[in-house]
Amino acid sequence: MIPGARLIILGRQGAGKGTQCVRLSRHYVVPHISTGDVLRAAVREGTELGKSAKEVMDAGGLVGDEIMIGIVNERLSRDDARARGYILDGFPRTVPQAKALDDMTIERPIDIVIDLVVPRDLVVQRISSRRVCRDCGTNYVASGPTPVLWICENCGGDVVQRDDDTPEAINRRLDLYETQTAPLLQFYGDAGRMVDVDGVGTPDEVFGRLTQAIDTARRRR
Ligand SMILES: [Zn+2]
Repeated sequence: MIPGARLIILGRQGAGKGTQCVRLSRHYVVPHISTGDVLRAAVREGTELGKSAKEVMDAGGLVGDEIMIGIVNERLSRDDARARGYILDGFPRTVPQAKALDDMTIERPIDIVIDLVVPRDLVVQRISSRRVCRDCGTNYVASGPTPVLWICENCGGDVVQRDDDTPEAINRRLDLYETQTAPLLQFYGDAGRMVDVDGVGTPDEVFGRLTQAIDTARRRR
């Protein structure tokens, strides 16, 4: 059996991180720990940290480092993550989170931090071609000129572009992500703990590069 892995995957929106995390999770047989999912689960289960997070979110705020660190720490303490490892997606976001993660993984350190790199113009193009059915939520990809009235094959509803998937809105989100994560990339980069993986290509090609980078990093340890 393939040994487990402890990974952090970084990358801007539209880089294909979600798809690759699912594949890596199957390949190494480790849980894919997405911050959004873990946060929602903590709120649903009504844990102490989940309750604190809900209060912040209900007030329209962003969940701070302390709560996020606590929630991730709880998740990493579970049997599946302790036994085989995990793929962290969306955490850490900040240098204080990264330092806290180092403290909680002192006995079983992270194997490698991967930055999945896709040029900005390509992700803007990918995201702005997304369409969604307003009624049933089926996703579509627009290629070339699209009909003025696009009808969902599934339910007959209107297929539309989300308001926040326009190039202007996408560029705003990408700017924000870059500003937020620049110190984190520097933190891992300076320590020689991060590898850039080219995210351009078919899902199979990108997956091959990822497993190669991960296996190389583990052999070096
Ligand atoms: Zn539909």
